[in-house]
Order: sequence, then structure tokens, then C-alpha cells
Amino acid sequence: MTDEHGPGRVTAEFREVYGTEPGGVWAAPGRVNLIGEHTDYNDGFVMPLALPHTCLAAASPRTDGVLRLHSGDVPGGAVELRVEELSPVAGGAGGGDRGGWAAYPAGVVWALREAGLLTGGAGGADLHFESTVPTGAGLSSSAALEVVTATALNDLYGLGLTPPRIAQLCQRAENAFVGVPCGIMDQMASACCTEGHALFLDARDLTQRQVPFDLAAEGLRLLVVDTRVKHELGDGAYASRRAACEAAARALGVRALRDVPFEGLDATLAELERLGCDAATRRRVRHVVTEDRRVEEVIQRLDAGDTRAIGPVLTAGHASCRDDFEISCAELDLVVETAGAAGALGARMTGGGFGGSAIVLVAEADADAVSKAVTEAFGAAGHRAPRIFPAVPSAGARRL
Ligand code: ADP
Ligand code: MG
Repeated sequence: MTDEHGPGRVTAEFREVYGTEPGGVWAAPGRVNLIGEHTDYNDGFVMPLALPHTCLAAASPRTDGVLRLHSGDVPGGAVELRVEELSPVAGGAGGGDRGGWAAYPAGVVWALREAGLLTGGAGGADLHFESTVPTGAGLSSSAALEVVTATALNDLYGLGLTPPRIAQLCQRAENAFVGVPCGIMDQMASACCTEGHALFLDARDLTQRQVPFDLAAEGLRLLVVDTRVKHELGDGAYASRRAACEAAARALGVRALRDVPFEGLDATLAELERLGCDAATRRRVRHVVTEDRRVEEVIQRLDAGDTRAIGPVLTAGHASCRDDFEISCAELDLVVETAGAAGALGARMTGGGFGGSAIVLVAEADADAVSKAVTEAFGAAGHRAPRIFPAVPSAGARRL
């Protein structure tokens, strides 16, 4: 959702909230992940693209060490904090969003200070946010909020941070301050994606490559289907999946599951069984190792100029998320099955799972029919109508 009036509007709202002019306006996008699910915290490969949906921030620095945070998307006045008093405990670490929405931007300021980047009274600021990224839809509104905060402070305080460094500090904020054990993908996508490209990222060393992803030129469309459900199971399951992956890596004596080769996977799974690893954990390992392989397959097909050919790889990725990693749900499965039956080239859940969004690759000529089929299937199953929109590969964080 491109919002051409956004900068003027957040500037006017900043003026209304704080009674002064902002020093500037910044934007950071949400994302969808094309392929590579739950691989980032296994040091593996991911391939997200930025959405046109962005979190905007109007911001000014302050010299008195006070941090004021206001969101046009949350009722209530500005949250006022003292920068030197920010601590993970006060911010709500361990509970995930326990400190309320302000824990995300406050956590970023905390992470910048903890890294020694803001000393003395520095770090105070007035910030006003407004976002077109749907929240809790698996499209990373939280990363957009963090990354826009860090990008604004980077400019306001002349910190000289690169986009990957910004992403790392934002991940630190979400892990240690907000208390969500996320990987690095969402923050890297929001900070580093570029228009017209998907971002191939090696989550171990943050090596990245911008892969041209021009759907329109090939008569294709990538639809995002926001199921508008978020099953409670999600947060605990994320942590338990992560723990299972780490336990399996320890048992195998490797640093992370990324180090388990795809060739010889069957032997590795047999070895895990011999070591007493349960069947569910072995399925988790199979997902991660085959998913890294699928990212490489998607890259190869895109490099060969055959975007249509990634469809079956996406659908295979969904089956692996559903059967081996067990993070799908009825609504996401329904999107994938219905879209496939209605002529889509491929479809999969995207993001953490247990609700949120799916993506559907479809020929432009079939897009309306596929959208209609999915909406009707949701109606017939008694689900709320999904929100469906095209994913146009867009720019990463920037000053406007
Ligand atoms: P996702 O990142 O998939 O959208 P999360 O649960 O990780 O879902 O993050 C959503 C949370 O991020 C919201 O509950 C809220 O606390 C915070 N958030 C996101 N965007 C905004 C915004 N524009 N204003 C205030 N808080 C926001
Ligand atoms: Mg999030």
C-alpha cells in the first residue's frame, strides 16, 4: 500500500502531538518471505521481499535524555521514558510484547546505548509513528517499527550504521528487550531490501544478494493472503521449534542445522534416531535441511529467468512446514489447497505460522479467479473473509 500523503500526514500529526516541527520523516517496510521458513535461526538461507506497506516515523532529537513515543495506530497519548532508565526488565523481556507496543522502539534505543553508540544524554527523541503494515498478520509490522526507529536515530545522531548493523541491533532489541526469540530475517528484510528484488540472505554471515524479481514482466502476480487469524499456539511453538533445532544441532555436534548437508540427510536422520532423538525432532531437522535446499532451488530458477518454475518449490515448502515443522493451520492449508486447485502456480504459508499470511504465485490472467476461489472457500468453511493483495517488491528503510 503506497501512501503518497503519508509524509505530510505524519509531519502534521507530529506537530499536533509534540507542538514542534520534526527533524525528518523515515520509512521502513513490512515483508513477505518467498522461501526459507524457520531457517534464519538455524544459520540458513532466506529470501524475503519488502512490501509497499511501511511504518513511517516523524522524529526529532532531544537533549534532555527523554524519549517520547506516540503511535497514531494505538489509542492513548505519548509514552514518556528516560533513556538512561531503559532496561530489559522494565521493557518487559521474557513475555513478548509485555511492555506494550512502546517496548519495540524503546528496545531499539536501549540496544543502541548498550552497543555504546549513544552516550551521555544522547538518545533522547520525540517519535511519532503511523503504519500501513497490518499488525500480527505475519508481515513483520514489529520489524518495520524497530527498523524505522533505528534508521531515524542513525540519521538524527549521525551514527553511521549500515543497514545490516541496524538489523542486528533491532533483532537484539526484539530478543532481549521485548522478549521475542526471533531470527534476523525480518529486520534484514526491512533494512536491506530494494525495489524490484527479493533478498537472498545467508543468515550466518549476513552475506546478501539482491535477486531481480520482476513479476509483471513475466505476466505473473504474487498474492498475499492475510488469513486474519493468529492462533495462540504460535508464540510458545516458535520457541519450542527453535529449542528442538538447537538440541538436534548439539546432538549432531554441528554449530547449527545449516551445517547438515542435504546429501546424506537420510543418514543424518538415522544417526539422530540412534542418538535417541524423537521422531518429531527428526522431522524438524528434515524441514530445515530441505528448506535451505529449496531456497537454493528458487535462486537457481530465478537466475535462469524462469519465475514460473518456482511455483512447485513454494508448494513443496508448504508441505514441509505443514507435515515436518508442523506450524501450519487449517486456514493456511485451505489457502494453499484452494489456490492450487484454482490454477495457481504455487502457494505456501509465509512467516512464523499458526495463522498470519500465505503467498500465492499466479498468472496475472488467473489472479482474480484464484482470489475469488480462496474467498469463497473461506466463506464455506465459516472463516472470516481473508484480505488479499499483490506483493510488489519494494524498497527497504529510507529517509523520505
Ligand atoms: P507482526 O510483526 O507479524 O506484525 P508481531 O506480534 O511480531 O506481529 O508485532 C505486532 C506488534 O508490533 C503489535 O502488537 C504492536 O505492539 C507493535 N506494532 C506494530 N506496528 C505498530 C504501530 N504502527 N504502532 C504501534 N505498535 C505497533
Ligand atoms: Mg513481528
